[in-house]
Amino acid sequence: MPLKGNSVYCINHPDKIMTRDNIMHAITVIQSDGKGNISFNPASGVPCVVYVCDICGYLESYLAMKTPYWSSFKGSPENK
Ligand SMILES: [Zn+2]
Repeated sequence: MPLKGNSVYCINHPDKIMTRDNIMHAITVIQSDGKGNISFNPASGVPCVVYVCDICGYLESYLAMKTPYWSSFKGSPENK
C-alpha cells in the first residue's frame, strides 16, 4: 500500500496503519550449485523494514536504506 506521509496503510484495510516491529530483517541471497541444489547465504542480502497489519496479518517490506530507520540501525552498538 502506498505510504501516506510517514505511515504505511494495509492494502486490505485502507484506514488501518500498519505496525512496524523494532528489529531489522533481510531477504537473504539464494544460490544454486547448478545441479538442482539451492542454499541460502545469510552473509548477503537486502536489509528490510517490515510492517504488519494487526487485523489481517498482511505484511509489507521496504528497502531499509530508504527509511529513516537505517541510519539509526547502522549506528547501533550491536553493529560496530
Ligand atoms: Zn489488514
